[in-house]
Amino acid sequence: MKKESLEQRVRAIKGSLPPHVLLVAAAKTRSAAEVQTAVASGIVAVGYNYIQEAEAMRQTLKEWEMQETSRRLQWHLIGHLQRNKAKRAVELFDMIETIDSLRIAEAVDRRCADIGKVMPVLIEINSGRESNKTGAPPDELISLVRQIAELKHIEIQGLMTMGPRFGDPEEARPYFRLTKKLFDQLIKENVPHTEMRFLSMGMSNSYEQAIEEGANVVRIGTRLFGARNEA
Ligand SMILES: *Cc1c(COP(=O)(O)O)cnc(C)c1O
Repeated sequence: MKKESLEQRVRAIKGSLPPHVLLVAAAKTRSAAEVQTAVASGIVAVGYNYIQEAEAMRQTLKEWEMQETSRRLQWHLIGHLQRNKAKRAVELFDMIETIDSLRIAEAVDRRCADIGKVMPVLIEINSGRESNKTGAPPDELISLVRQIAELKHIEIQGLMTMGPRFGDPEEARPYFRLTKKLFDQLIKENVPHTEMRFLSMGMSNSYEQAIEEGANVVRIGTRLFGARNEA
């Protein structure tokens, strides 16, 4: 098999996505050079799981970001947020995709109030109802959204889910479907101060199924950058 370059992979995947789908490059463990190449090849949003890694990368890329990217790069938090990291999170990120409790939402809201920011957030759903996973329980979603929507410095803009991991991505469809159903239900509920625009689901092995089931944000790492070396 001929090895494609990062640039070729970014262009190929971007080119294959329907135009309404936002590609978030899941950039954990990647070097600054890789992130720069991805952005130069058309990536407009990067996703980070950890505050510290994102902070270091933003620092490294600061000068370059100012010079190179005519349209500012969007930084998404896609990993679980701890309350004691809320302050740095609201400074670093343009969107937090992983709000899953009122407590964490309140912490983000308070920190945003301190700096006069309104943070776009997605509510993360534990669509597989897995006991060891993050995300709000599907059955509590609507009441959770109603409570978080009251917070003045947060704007709910959609839903995110990981779903259980399968070797065969076809098996992920029921979890994507459930999340889409909840998304549609929330659109109908028309909760004040919410704007249900983004449905973030699907990763390297499942993004095609996710898009077929209604995703308009996909978070892709391995298929763009190659296998991770997670030692
Ligand atoms: C790492 C990660 C991804 C991307 O995973 P790949 O399988 O490498 O595409 C997507 N979403 C989240 C939350 C992640 O942590």
